[in-house]
Amino acid sequence: MNLHEYQGKEILASFGVRIQRGIVAQNAAEAVAAAKQLTEETGTGWHVVKAQIHAGGRGKGGGVKLAKNLQEVEQHAENIIGMMLKTPQTPPQGKKVHQVLVAEDVYYPGETETSEIYMSVLLNRARGKNMIMYSPQGGMDIEAVAEETPHLIFTEEIDPAVGLMPFQARSIAFNLGLSGAAFKDMTKFVSSLYTAYVKSDASLFEINPVLKTSDNKIMAVDAKVTIDDNALYRHRDYTDMRDLREENAIEVEAKEAGLNYVDLDGNVGCMVNGAGLAMATMDLIKMAGGEPANFLDVGGTADAKRVETAFRIILKDPNVKAILVNIFGGIVRCDRVAQGIVDAYKNMGDAINVPIIVRLQGTNADIAKALIDNSGLAVHSAVAFQEAADKVQEVLA
Ligand code: GDP
Ligand code: MN
Repeated sequence: MNLHEYQGKEILASFGVRIQRGIVAQNAAEAVAAAKQLTEETGTGWHVVKAQIHAGGRGKGGGVKLAKNLQEVEQHAENIIGMMLKTPQTPPQGKKVHQVLVAEDVYYPGETETSEIYMSVLLNRARGKNMIMYSPQGGMDIEAVAEETPHLIFTEEIDPAVGLMPFQARSIAFNLGLSGAAFKDMTKFVSSLYTAYVKSDASLFEINPVLKTSDNKIMAVDAKVTIDDNALYRHRDYTDMRDLREENAIEVEAKEAGLNYVDLDGNVGCMVNGAGLAMATMDLIKMAGGEPANFLDVGGTADAKRVETAFRIILKDPNVKAILVNIFGGIVRCDRVAQGIVDAYKNMGDAINVPIIVRLQGTNADIAKALIDNSGLAVHSAVAFQEAADKVQEVLA
């Protein structure tokens, strides 16, 4: 589950990580009220108005604006809420902004310069360890830093069984070129950030920028947070943070129907039982020269109702030009699945407007094949895995 910046910051603050303070607003009037409240609480006169969407690069796209008075807060909020914000990370048409975060301006000038640091905590799957990635050259051009001056990106590996050791936090502060109060504050920042990552069951915490303020405090100015869906049952208080407006509409519908569906870019829809077989099916489609349009695991109970729902969901993707059904009948009998497909096809009528290739293997596979072949419907049956993939290519050609 991905979170908005303001939600990520709430989680950070709950673990004692210093954040740039802010209040979320749904409209311009709320934004002005938020700014007034922040002025009372923090003394700040200037504010930043920040679009809340699930995508980075908002600054570059015009979704982060500095306001020097309440009129400017109102103006920026009015312009940003409702806009289609285009950033390097959004789809080409952009993403609609529903709310803004009004935050205290923390870039105030002082005796020393402010500086922007990059820091993320994530899982290094290959190494089976957590990892803190950081750079003294944070800010909006971090991608360019990674490409042009990769030696300025540092990593620190953390054994999850041991946790972050104090010397590691110090080594990070040292590599960031900090000293004095900022050095000390950074070690505190890193250790509470790591605790937040572990305790919230996150798979990513990306803070860019982490700011060293002019009075040498370290704080999170941005927060990109992903919580592991499989751990959400341990965090009932986070489940309300899910913003369905930001998620793929078809995936949301599939989830409600209890189907495991991931939208992909290709043109061959897949309906498979079991995640492993689904992965193998996608590989086979690719090896036969096609591109899967989705990952879909219908699970153990592939009855007519489920099969029909799965067809409807696959067909919502306009790119789908053929559907490959690949089901292994172990607990579920193949003839029941075949009957489910035939019934779904009859129920849906014209809604199924692409060729369907069905491969059923396992218990009663022969009966199932006969059922499909004798149904009189435009469904192709295949027995072998490769044969199924080749048939897909045939109907697409
Ligand atoms: P992103 O572009 O989506 O990553 O959004 P960020 O939250 O990182 O904000 C983008 C940029 O806005 C930052 O890199 C800062 O340069 C700038 N910014 C954020 N907060 C403040 C602030 O309080 N004052 C000023 N002057 N600039 C800010
Ligand atoms: Mn950022």
